[in-house]
Amino acid sequence: MNLIDNIVAQAAAMTAIRRDIHAHPETCFEEHRTSELVAKLLTEWGIEVHRGLGKTGVVGLIRGRDGGQSGRSLGLRADMDALPMQELNSFAHASKTPGKMHACGHDGHTTMLLAAAQHLARQRDFDGTVVLIFQPAEELGGGAHAMIEDGLFERFPVDAVFGTHNWPGMAVGDIALSSGPVMASTNEFKIVIQGRGCHGAMPHMGIDPVPVACQVVQGFQTIISRNKKPIDSAVLSVTMIHAGEATNVVPDHCEIQGTVRTFRTEVLDLIESRMREVAEHICAAHQASCEFGFARNYPATVNDVEATAFARAALAEVVGADHVIDQEPTMGAEDFSYMLQAKPGAYFFLGNGDGAHRTGGHGAGPCVLHNPSYDFNDDLLPLGASAFVHLVHRWFARPA
Ligand SMILES: [Zn+2]
Ligand SMILES: [Zn+2]
Repeated sequence: MNLIDNIVAQAAAMTAIRRDIHAHPETCFEEHRTSELVAKLLTEWGIEVHRGLGKTGVVGLIRGRDGGQSGRSLGLRADMDALPMQELNSFAHASKTPGKMHACGHDGHTTMLLAAAQHLARQRDFDGTVVLIFQPAEELGGGAHAMIEDGLFERFPVDAVFGTHNWPGMAVGDIALSSGPVMASTNEFKIVIQGRGCHGAMPHMGIDPVPVACQVVQGFQTIISRNKKPIDSAVLSVTMIHAGEATNVVPDHCEIQGTVRTFRTEVLDLIESRMREVAEHICAAHQASCEFGFARNYPATVNDVEATAFARAALAEVVGADHVIDQEPTMGAEDFSYMLQAKPGAYFFLGNGDGAHRTGGHGAGPCVLHNPSYDFNDDLLPLGASAFVHLVHRWFARPA
């Protein structure tokens, strides 16, 4: 592995920072302490800091050789937020905030970008400007979108943007990325079927929404199997059905909720409109009324072809070409997608290992994302930071 010596020399300091952030998790636009820490460190290292984008977002600007005269710029992004869940680890750096935990490794992502920033600010051995983007609220709030809405790319233009996520189960030293859609859009629906409640023994006196809801759920199945092209990936999961309170009462209404995930907007458009038709017509056939709600959350994460090819070559310099592997797309979602809608770039995955980094005090559960026993693997800090730095060097070394 081709790690950068100056970064490796900071590994212990970076591990301390990562564990400090881990011990003080903050969620969804409340990353006050974390953003304060990030801004303080960047300032200490002589980096120009801008705050308040997307409420708690932080932007750092590192101008390279001769003030970055080429006019070119590159964005590097890390997410800072934790999850609203209880940590089950008991090591010294376990969460000090009940009900909040860094179970997705954003503490590690933030620290890797900090380590890269410290090195780049010392050396300034590139011709252009690096825009460091520390964003809030990846998990639930669309913090990337909030920063863009606050003028992120107008105030700090970038030619391309890169981001990364640790990936448990993949070997440390492996990096996965592919061009095209790699993570799905995430969307949710809520359908309220309004019937007319009555006595359970006299169903003819009312309109029972329960069998209607069952037919609606059944009707949805053929949207995936019969309406969309077989080659297009999509998931439609009904995850909640709520109706009724007593065995002898026909409920007045029934709620159906769930998630839809796709890689392409055209497929999403088709699924949403077919769902509406199926739900409304089945309800009408049974004399119930239908309130159909559909909300589009994060768009699909789509890696730019050219930026992915560029990143593969740059990352191969760090881990070797054999260890830059293809990423199988996942129906999970990621709000870096908003940045990739605005700018070319790529999102890559860093192997977090199989959990062998865990020692005493770690919980008993698997070391997977969003598990209460998860912990970021600190061995990744020099690797991820070196990866960012190689992206920078190679980006600005390209012919103008
Ligand atoms: Zn997560
Ligand atoms: Zn995450």
